Amino acid sequence: MTVHFPFQNSYSALPDTFFARVAPTPVAAPRLIKLNRPLAVQLGLDPDLLETPEGAEILAGKTVPAGADPIAMAYAGHQFGQFVPQLGDGRAILLGEVIDKDGVRRDIQLKGSGPTPFSRRGDGRAALGPVLREYVVSEAMHALGIPTTRSLAAVVTGEHVIRETALPGAVLTRVASSHIRVGTFQYFAVRRDTDAIRRLADHVIARHYPELVGAERPYHALLGSVVARQADLVARWLLIGFIHGVMNTDNTSISGETIDYGPCAFMDSYDPAQVFSSIDEMGRYAYANQPRIALWNLTRLAECLLPLFGEEQEKAIEQAQEILGAFPDIFSKAYQAGLRQKVGLFTERDGDEALIQDLLDAMAKNAADFTLTFRKLGDAAGDEAAGEHVRAQFMDPTAFDEWAKRWRERIAAEPQSAAERQAAIHAVNPAFIPRNHRVEAVIRAAVDNDDYAPFEELVKVLAKPYEEQPAYAAYQDPPLPDQRVLRTFCGT
Ligand code: AMP
Ligand code: MG
Repeated sequence: MTVHFPFQNSYSALPDTFFARVAPTPVAAPRLIKLNRPLAVQLGLDPDLLETPEGAEILAGKTVPAGADPIAMAYAGHQFGQFVPQLGDGRAILLGEVIDKDGVRRDIQLKGSGPTPFSRRGDGRAALGPVLREYVVSEAMHALGIPTTRSLAAVVTGEHVIRETALPGAVLTRVASSHIRVGTFQYFAVRRDTDAIRRLADHVIARHYPELVGAERPYHALLGSVVARQADLVARWLLIGFIHGVMNTDNTSISGETIDYGPCAFMDSYDPAQVFSSIDEMGRYAYANQPRIALWNLTRLAECLLPLFGEEQEKAIEQAQEILGAFPDIFSKAYQAGLRQKVGLFTERDGDEALIQDLLDAMAKNAADFTLTFRKLGDAAGDEAAGEHVRAQFMDPTAFDEWAKRWRERIAAEPQSAAERQAAIHAVNPAFIPRNHRVEAVIRAAVDNDDYAPFEELVKVLAKPYEEQPAYAAYQDPPLPDQRVLRTFCGT
């Protein structure tokens, strides 16, 4: 039996300016590290066959499966504010698309599978550490309920990649509802190829926003829909303490999924100015700056779509501005609603926003752990004595006492029982997030000792982030001072 991929490719049927046809480069000795079996099933693939040596060869890019039409996609992008007219998949190859069990078209892409015409000076390869990081964090995001690309598999190649030192090489199989980015539109906009922009926009509407097919002004509506999805996505990031780290326009998905897990990380103690990326010296992509940057990226998309908005340039700009103008409101509605849920409010009242902001301010001042403060607040809602566990998150616990008094008065005005409120708070505040020191430890064990047991365990715990899992309670803990990871490298 050979592995069958039920490919139904659509992107490779677009004009050949959209991509370069290129096969993955064979590697020495592929070995499967991890297969995401439930995801394989969801994609209509046989997980048992993928776990055979032949499966590993496919997932490492050594064998191209029947029906694949391997391409590297063309795109441009603003990186840290600087425009680069040609980026493209420099180390990723799209094998093709399948229709999953829910009828959703999904890309299957190998990342780290060798050079492409877009590699510029890169080697087209990925190191094991960043591959494991993307696997852990993307799957954790999925389990947390946040739109994201997925990880189908990780393989080691049996070859070394040269970074600062020689590191084991690896390939990640990434699954996305598509890999079309803001930067894909920019690629054609900078070439003044309006036909291509229209083709791309039509493809995107059919694929991601089918409700807009036949709309009176489909391209205006497309911009509006992408704005709405990005606003919602960034609100979710903030609510869960996620810092993307490289919100370049080439890392901004048109479908509204989180994509490109480089120097991303979850916050431990709450600090709105927190930055993780070692190359983000200006704090451009700091935690609290993410909504502003998302809007900046969407403005770049709007510029690309202007030629589709009509003849009159000035009018088109006005229309684009109006559509972009909806972002702050969509974002804050989603963010504020999420915050109210985080503190267990079932209703909306004047003063809620200020109440919650006061908690966040106290958390920032007292280096309170973002995840545990909210999680333990659930316990405190269930049983007043458990307020002690929330207090313990604050350097000065009395900072919580004052706030807790106001909060208890506020929740007393709602009819829900203590148990109901506790369940509601726990349903939106995870016990387990991919804490950076845990991710680093998993990578160290794998890279230094070829030991994947910590990786397996972390992936398992993070698959149920909202459950208590007492046997793994230690995974809830923030890092000790000497375990703290201050910077993550743009892990390429
Ligand atoms: P990223 O920072 O991962 O979003 O990548 C930015 C750009 O650099 C994309 O065009 C990537 O394909 C390209 N790139 C990153 N790493 C490599 C590599 N090792 N070889 C070739 N291209 C790369
Ligand atoms: Mg990228």
